[in-house]
Amino acid sequence: MHVRFFGVRGSCPCSSDEHRRYGGNTSCVTVEVDGQEPIILDLGTGLRPLGVELLAGIGAGTGVVNGARVAPVTPGGAPGASELQEAGRNRVAGDVWLGGADDPGAGGPGGEHWTALLTHLHWDHLIGLPFFPPVLRPGAKLDVYGPPQEGRSIQEVVDQVVKPPFFPVQVEELHGSVVFHDVAEGQMTVGSATVSIRQVPHVGTTLGFRIDAGGVAVAYLSDHQAPLDMAAVAPAVLELCDGADLVIHDAQYTEQEFVAKADWGHSTPAYAVHVAAEAGARMLALFHHDPMHDDDQIDRLVEVAAARPEAARLTQVVAAAEQMVVDVRPGSTSLVVANR
Ligand SMILES: [Zn+2]
Ligand SMILES: [Zn+2]
Repeated sequence: MHVRFFGVRGSCPCSSDEHRRYGGNTSCVTVEVDGQEPIILDLGTGLRPLGVELLAGIGAGTGVVNGARVAPVTPGGAPGASELQEAGRNRVAGDVWLGGADDPGAGGPGGEHWTALLTHLHWDHLIGLPFFPPVLRPGAKLDVYGPPQEGRSIQEVVDQVVKPPFFPVQVEELHGSVVFHDVAEGQMTVGSATVSIRQVPHVGTTLGFRIDAGGVAVAYLSDHQAPLDMAAVAPAVLELCDGADLVIHDAQYTEQEFVAKADWGHSTPAYAVHVAAEAGARMLALFHHDPMHDDDQIDRLVEVAAARPEAARLTQVVAAAEQMVVDVRPGSTSLVVANR
C-alpha cells in the first residue's frame, strides 16, 4: 500500500517561499492498494493537482486507472478559460472549464471511477471538488462517502455552496458525475480494502477512517479535537488507530496556540504522539498544519514531537508534506519520498 500526500495544510490554503517545502494545499491524501484505483481521503485543494496527475496517467505510475488507460492532458493540466473561449468550442462558465467532446482529457474510453472518503464538510476539506479535472470528463464518476450534517444529506449541504453566486455552476452540471453517499459509523469495502468509519471529536459531525488492506492499516484523523487534559483518547479514535502501521493525525497547534484555541477542534503534535502511542501504532504523520506555521517552524514541531518519551514507542514521527510518499508494508513502513 502506498500513501501519497497532495494537501497537508489545515483551514486555508497558503503559498509563500516559507511554505514551499511542506506545501500550502489543504487536506487531500490518496491510499493506493496494489492493483486498485487510489482511494481519496478528503477533497481539499490538494485534489486539483491529484486530478491533473490522474488525467496524465502518472498518479500510480502505471497510466492505468480502474482498468482504463487515461489520456494525457496538455502540459499544466486543463487549459485556461481564455484559451477555450478563443477556441470557441468548449463550454466555459466564468473561470470554470466545463469540458466538451474535444477536451484534451476526453480522448480515453471514459468510464473511469474514483472513490473519495470525506471526513466532514468544512471548506478546507471540500473546496477542491469543483476543480478536480477528472469529473469534467464525460463518463467519469466520483463516489463521495461522507457524514450527513444535522439531518441534511451531504449532497444537500454541498449543493448549497456549489452553486451561483458562490460558484458558477452546480455539481450536477459537470460533465462527469459526482455521487454522494451518506455514511455513518461502520464498515464498507472498496475493492479489496476494508474501510472502518467512526465519528471523532471535532467541530460538527466529523469522521475518521481506517483502511485495512494486504495485512496493513492506515488511520486518517485529519481534524480531531484534543481534550483539555491532553490525556484521554476517545474509544473511537483508539479503535481506528489500534496497531495501525501509519496514523495520519491532526497536529495543527503548538501548545501555546492550543491554550488560546482549546475548543477550535484541533490537536497538538504532542497529543498526536500520545494518541498513536496509546493505540500501539507504528509510524505517525503530523497533518493539517496551520497556515501560520512556516517550513522552519514545522521542522521544529516535528523535532520536538519526535523527542517526546512516548514517541519511543513509535517507529517514526514525520510531518506530512506535499508529494511525500509512504510505503506501507507489514512490519516495514517507510518513507519513499520525504519533503522537497
Ligand atoms: Zn480542516
Ligand atoms: Zn474541520
